[in-house]
Amino acid sequence: MRNQQATKLIFDLSQPGRRATQFPESDVPVKPLADLLPADQLADQPPPLPEVTEADVVRHFVNLSQLNMSVDTHFYPLGSCTMKYNPKRHERWAKLPGIGDLHPYLDESRIQGMLAILYEMQELLGEIAGLPAVSLQPAAGAQGELTALLTAAAYFQDKGEDRKKVLFPASAHGTNPASAAIAGFDCVQLNSTVDGLVDMEELKANIDENTAVFMITNPNTVGLFEKEIAEISRLMHEAGGLVYIDGANMNAILGITRPGDFGGDMMHYNVHKTFTGPHGGGGPGSGPIAVRDFLGPYLPGPVLTKSEGADGEPYYSLTDPEKSIGRVRSFFGNVGILLRGYFYLRTLGPDGVREISEIAVLNANYLLAKLKDILPVPNGDRCMHEFVASAKILQKEKGISAMDVGKRLLDFGFHAPTVYFPLVVAEALMIEPTETESRATLDAFADAIRQIVAEEPEFLHQAPHSTMHSRPDDVAAARKPVLKWSAQSQ
Ligand SMILES: *Cc1c(COP(=O)(O)O)cnc(C)c1O
Repeated sequence: MRNQQATKLIFDLSQPGRRATQFPESDVPVKPLADLLPADQLADQPPPLPEVTEADVVRHFVNLSQLNMSVDTHFYPLGSCTMKYNPKRHERWAKLPGIGDLHPYLDESRIQGMLAILYEMQELLGEIAGLPAVSLQPAAGAQGELTALLTAAAYFQDKGEDRKKVLFPASAHGTNPASAAIAGFDCVQLNSTVDGLVDMEELKANIDENTAVFMITNPNTVGLFEKEIAEISRLMHEAGGLVYIDGANMNAILGITRPGDFGGDMMHYNVHKTFTGPHGGGGPGSGPIAVRDFLGPYLPGPVLTKSEGADGEPYYSLTDPEKSIGRVRSFFGNVGILLRGYFYLRTLGPDGVREISEIAVLNANYLLAKLKDILPVPNGDRCMHEFVASAKILQKEKGISAMDVGKRLLDFGFHAPTVYFPLVVAEALMIEPTETESRATLDAFADAIRQIVAEEPEFLHQAPHSTMHSRPDDVAAARKPVLKWSAQSQ
């Protein structure tokens, strides 16, 4: 049933004279406003604010909040986004006074505890990447990509090389070519093989002395490990280029293999994905980058360094690398999300970190096996932590699209998977269950999809049937968003 109450604006609930608070009569003489402010500064009318009771306010916003699906309320298998459960104890720790009350303008000597945490986070991220030089600055994955490419550009410039080409496979996330273009490179897209992997012949044909960076997600966005990654890296390095690993899919390989070990020179993390920063609705994010030692001097500042203080204790400082490209964000990065990632890693320890990926991969393969007879998976019977199913046959035979399946899932209390990405799979449904879901939830999700594909196409085209809005205009919502109420817009 649609939630009618929440369709109203708080202005619709307004009744003259209603108030959420009552002030006692003032017992000091009150001057008229006209005596306090010049006449031309006074509005003719009071502002058109809603007049509502406290219960009206609370119910209105709680109702609104419940229109959303979230990791805390629903299974959220949004491929590539790693919508895992966000432990609540992280919130409690992030609020501890010694952490939550700090101001970034405090002197270095007074925030040694916070700097110690950030230093250790740098070390942990360097170790998990196999790439020792880390910058915590970038505020999201896409900014991490841009930062690493600017770092690479500074490195090539320093060497007197004018390399302009950035290569990426057709399965790449849209941010890869966007970041390369913003960093001033020319983008060259390579086709993938029918198996969903990098086409080695095409790669070889495109590597030359003008090639700067090859950007690759591994495991890739089709959910497959790029088996040729060591050879890809060898070819790039032989030609004097660098390999960038888009780390959005780190949830599949934590503690099992490392980008630095399979030939990557630079990578970004999405701390908000892999390490439980609450995200969705556009943020907040954190996209630290890890690079090889020889790229370290170009990283944005400040980075954390550790030395011995006068008292013999460790002393942590904020320093700018020698040939730094400069700042890419205020202060030390998105500390709130970095903290949650740090708590997560320290809670789990090395064995626990590896277990995350083992279970994430197991869960994805379990779901793949349950679904592949009704939603074919074009690129294989096995996957890493996510897989891309296709509604192409369903569309052809019954007129049911990936969008129809995704929308109808909302009626069953499941967030939709990622649809129509990656572009290399027709009618794509990209499903990432993550390690935090139980077998019972995965079974219920598979049952829902079975039921949906047997439903009438016409009924599915109208889905969802239980939400406040059924099929909003996606394009208008992105291009012409209405983000605030104003009296004039009514
Ligand atoms: C999420 C994602 C990005 C971009 O990361 P943001 O943190 O959203 O900027 C890049 N590549 C892949 C494969 C992703 O899934």
